[in-house]
Amino acid sequence: MTKIFNFCAGPAMLPTPVMAKAQQEFINWQGTGSSVMELSHRSSIYIAMAEKAEADLRKLMSIPDNYKVLFCHGGGRGQFSAVPLNLLPKGKSADYIVSGSWSKAAAAEAKNFGDINVININQDSDDNSSLLATTDWPLSSDAAYVHYCPNETVNGLEINTIPDTNGVPLVADMSSTILSHEVDVSKFGLIYAGAQKNIGPSGLTIVIVREDLLGHAQKATPCIMNYKTAADNDSMYNTPPTYAWYLAGLVFEWLSDLGGVKAIAEVNKAKAELLYQAIDNSEFYLNHIESDYRSKMNIPFWLKDDSLNDKFLSESQAAGLTALKGHRIVGGMRASIYNAMPLEGVEALVEFMQQFEKRNG
Ligand SMILES: *Cc1c(COP(=O)(O)O)cnc(C)c1O
Repeated sequence: MTKIFNFCAGPAMLPTPVMAKAQQEFINWQGTGSSVMELSHRSSIYIAMAEKAEADLRKLMSIPDNYKVLFCHGGGRGQFSAVPLNLLPKGKSADYIVSGSWSKAAAAEAKNFGDINVININQDSDDNSSLLATTDWPLSSDAAYVHYCPNETVNGLEINTIPDTNGVPLVADMSSTILSHEVDVSKFGLIYAGAQKNIGPSGLTIVIVREDLLGHAQKATPCIMNYKTAADNDSMYNTPPTYAWYLAGLVFEWLSDLGGVKAIAEVNKAKAELLYQAIDNSEFYLNHIESDYRSKMNIPFWLKDDSLNDKFLSESQAAGLTALKGHRIVGGMRASIYNAMPLEGVEALVEFMQQFEKRNG
């Protein structure tokens, strides 16, 4: 079989050593004679694993002690509801920065739960995509919080400086960028991320929340979405996604063994530079996002002759480079190159792109 490099935006590829370890202990985990997914989340052996996973994540991200780490259900979109339910009291409003399709969806969902001030920061012209600098964002001084998405998975737009909100809690949807480079968690009130891009399989959502933000939820907040309830019960108020939690733990161990977030950030930078260079140095491919705002995780690119799209997709697929089709709302191609994508995968893609250009350019 050809070696496959999977460029899917999510669920995305997982590190091969993690998959191999999960396979090896699939039906007999730690000598229990059972699969980890068959065990009670209240058993001491499961709790020890769960606690280690949290401790490893805390270490990887240097999460300060006054933050809770919650292992939740409901995906990124679940948090689009949970954030306003927990952080937006009646009578207050929240600022929502819109930079692309996910932050737009988050704002639309939040409107169901309170007063939302939408701030669009897209600065597009015909041949250039850019964003308003964080220092120019027109934030309200009395917002309950500011929500933004540092990496827009669909659009390939990244905001690489942390905005200064003047003390207003900053909430970030890091679904497609968590653990890909170092961030100062203390600058945030809350960080959330669906697991299926950079952490593990789908079904698990990580929430990192500053303790003083707990306990102010709207009355109608469902108990399984209430951060305080989750925190008070170590994320086990109801049955957590036990197998996804276990796999996330294996990914955290893998990443720690590689040297942590700082080490993987170097690899991520090298991967992104290689691909953007290949695009920029060609007359055949195109990415019109201003360099400061280019994502290092999700790289959209377009063939100048889009009648070749189907051919590009079928030939890349045959070469073992899968899931390169761009999101339907932006078209073209997209290479998602999260932590688990090795440099070798991006090298293979660049090589394929150059050969394809030679044959068709
Ligand atoms: C994938 C993604 C989501 C949605 O996640 P689900 O788990 O499918 O709800 C939300 N935000 C961002 C930035 C994403 O990349």
